[in-house]
Amino acid sequence: MSLSKAFDHSKIRQDFPILARKNRGKPLIYLDNAATTQKPQCVIDSLTHYYSNNNSNVHRGVYELAEDAENLYRSARNTIASWLNVSPEEIIFTRGATEGINLVSNSFAKPLLKKGDQIILSEMEHHANIVPWQMVAKDTGADIKVVPLLEDGSLDRSKLSEFLSSSKSAILSICHVSNVLGTVNPVREIIKEAHQNGVKVVLDGAQSVPHLKVDLQELECDFFVFSGHKLFAPMGIGVVFAKNELITEMQPYQGGGDMIDQVSFQGTTFANGNQRFEAGTPNVAGAIGLAAAINYLAGIDFHQVDAHEKKLLTQTRNELHDIEGLVEYGTTSDKAGVFSFSIAGIHPHDLATLLDAEGIATRTGHHCCQPLMQKIGVDATARASFSLYNSMDDVHAFTNAVKRAVKILG
Ligand code: PLP
Repeated sequence: MSLSKAFDHSKIRQDFPILARKNRGKPLIYLDNAATTQKPQCVIDSLTHYYSNNNSNVHRGVYELAEDAENLYRSARNTIASWLNVSPEEIIFTRGATEGINLVSNSFAKPLLKKGDQIILSEMEHHANIVPWQMVAKDTGADIKVVPLLEDGSLDRSKLSEFLSSSKSAILSICHVSNVLGTVNPVREIIKEAHQNGVKVVLDGAQSVPHLKVDLQELECDFFVFSGHKLFAPMGIGVVFAKNELITEMQPYQGGGDMIDQVSFQGTTFANGNQRFEAGTPNVAGAIGLAAAINYLAGIDFHQVDAHEKKLLTQTRNELHDIEGLVEYGTTSDKAGVFSFSIAGIHPHDLATLLDAEGIATRTGHHCCQPLMQKIGVDATARASFSLYNSMDDVHAFTNAVKRAVKILG
């Protein structure tokens, strides 16, 4: 079902069949959207339709069915490119954001970096935006510089400027939106400053695309990665955007079928452009499902989604503010709908277990951000993360359940 421009979360909710199920016998209240989002019926239908009618391997078939699959795969790439406002040749399909950062770090950064060059990261990064850079730094002798965070969970811009102005700095890789703090980084300004200093920018958009309308022409970043599953699409599909002029400089890091021009035992020449980075049979159904999710979102005003999620966040804060010992992590004014918190004397896992018994799905742990946990001085936090289908009733159910849990555990 497609949606009108007016944003109505209760109508949207009906498009997501899983939200009608129960959790521990209670109506499911799904507040773990930063981990993965649920799928609208049209995305589920697109997969069923593809496997019922169009499934074939892509790239080499001459029969009609193979052409159908090829056309759908190509059309999915076009849809994603036009949604990001870039060209289809600048889109590389991956399994997700993690594989995307591994691709950029290995194919672009590794051949470029020399001993002593600097890769700039920040304290709020997900492990997916730390570990691949550490591996590449180890192989090349590059150094990693980490931008510290201020009290409210924003980047220390003066430290960032100091790092960017160093002649040794080559790459800045940061998240657009933090999965723990919800901080929306002012990436447009940061990218400008990086470019003035000759530093290339990789943006981890895993948490931004579900909340913000991203226009990559406007942002002008060099690389952008995200995962389909956090954008209402299937798991196992993701995207790397790489500027055309950079794609030609990149070296493949995975070899195999579909990425070659000629192969012999004397050596191999590679295909041109983005195809060089898509070795092996791609996730055709996933790409089609991602395009279906994007077509679904095309009918929704993202400013209204952002405003809706901010209202849910503010209401959560208001309803929980009098709980003694509650600390919210990430308090910037521009924040996505992510509420990470701890309550003195209560283990987040115990809290989440009691919430689960009431049908409420939240996440606890280090959220794949152990360095950030060290920074804020905890092993784990509890986290409720909102999406376009969540309601004020979800917030009330969550905050009331937290209050009941505090009485039991406190
Ligand atoms: N970056 C951020 C900010 C994330 O939140 C996540 C997942 O939670 C990732 C990267 C990794 O995404 P995936 O596991 O889908 O590759």
